[in-house]
Amino acid sequence: MEIEFIPVGGYGEVGKNMSLLRVGDEAVILDMGLYIPKVVSFDEEGGHKKYVSVNQLIDYGIIPDHRVIEKYKHMVKAIVPSHCHLDHALAVPYLASHYKAPIISNPMTIEIIKTALRDDDIKIPNELKKLNNNSSIKISKNIEIELINITHSALQTAIVAIHTPKGTVLYANDFKLDSTPVLGQKPNYKRLKQIGNGNVLAVIVDSIYSKSATKTPSEKVARQMLKDVMLGTENSQNGIIATTFASHIERIKSIVDFSLKLNRKPIFLGRSMMKYIEASEKCGLTKLSSHADIVGYGNMIKKRLKKFKSQKRDKYTIICTGGQGEPKAVLTKMLNQTLPFKFEKEDNVLFSNQTIPVDINIENRAKVEERLKQKKVRIFKDLHVSGHVSREDMRDFIKMTKPRAVIPCQGDSSMFKSFETLAEEMNYKPGKDCFNLRNGDKVMLYEN
Ligand SMILES: [Zn+2]
Repeated sequence: MEIEFIPVGGYGEVGKNMSLLRVGDEAVILDMGLYIPKVVSFDEEGGHKKYVSVNQLIDYGIIPDHRVIEKYKHMVKAIVPSHCHLDHALAVPYLASHYKAPIISNPMTIEIIKTALRDDDIKIPNELKKLNNNSSIKISKNIEIELINITHSALQTAIVAIHTPKGTVLYANDFKLDSTPVLGQKPNYKRLKQIGNGNVLAVIVDSIYSKSATKTPSEKVARQMLKDVMLGTENSQNGIIATTFASHIERIKSIVDFSLKLNRKPIFLGRSMMKYIEASEKCGLTKLSSHADIVGYGNMIKKRLKKFKSQKRDKYTIICTGGQGEPKAVLTKMLNQTLPFKFEKEDNVLFSNQTIPVDINIENRAKVEERLKQKKVRIFKDLHVSGHVSREDMRDFIKMTKPRAVIPCQGDSSMFKSFETLAEEMNYKPGKDCFNLRNGDKVMLYEN
């Protein structure tokens, strides 16, 4: 039996993650994601993904070029997104119907995919199958899929274990090792160690922070930063506007908790916030809407913002997107008066995120900050910790799982190079059992 790994998207770039693992004459697709900076520029140019062909989306760089796995198409038994982030799950509406296979993922991810399909009125024939983390399903003669619970900046993130008769492959794309998450379960270290009994053929590892010589701090640290700012600065007369990633429910929970401590009602503004909160509530992970107002759509947002004029500013906290300076985000619209909100001197704007380091985001974010400074608001930046493993976490993960081979994923060539030096420190050899791959390459993990 041959076991072959083929990277499709996210190798040599950060985004549009997708890979294929072939096990004999069967195969499984891991992740099917979007390339977010391209989505942003496409939207800004007035494009609509629904009205262009799949090949055009590929050529524009929005979705992975899955033509490199065309000859394996008939082998695919399942499509398994590892978590609900756009760059891992939301190319499903455009690519999944090409394969006669169910989409299998945890409830949160399936809910987000359903919402995306509904929003864009796209129908796909694939069955959407929920599988809880820390459980498994046999999808074909030779493949069993197990979702192992892990921590990340999205709830219910999984490391996907692909069990075959010749050993296990672990797909660990986007994760951190956080033993004290604010919400959700801890990493299932026990199961990872159990699997790491010498039978792991390969691990595919999130390498975006392979240069960062540390252990990524727990989400608890970001919570403490928010606490210091929200409860420890003078803001009793002023507005608080907090931005974070819509999908970061753990972070959102901290902002809500401290708002309530200040006797301020949390008001969520924007469609993406609403989507992720609704999905998390449907999955029984949060009850945010019982303490907060959630206003998703344009006209309703305008109405709600007008109502603020008659309310004292210490009665509410606005929570919205805009940390990347995106022109269509609520914060930007409030600043350019597309939405009726008046920033006042010494209002507090909290950025509970980090700017994703691509040019368009850096420029957009700088513009937003400049405008905020003109309005003399107080800016609190970088109230954030990453959702990705750092170099020393990677080392622990590899030690824990004892794979015969390691493959970096989700990174550019310098990130992969840095991962390679870590692997060499751990006695892996480039080209022999550490594979620095690019989209469309192939590597045989087992043959006889
Ligand atoms: Zn992610």
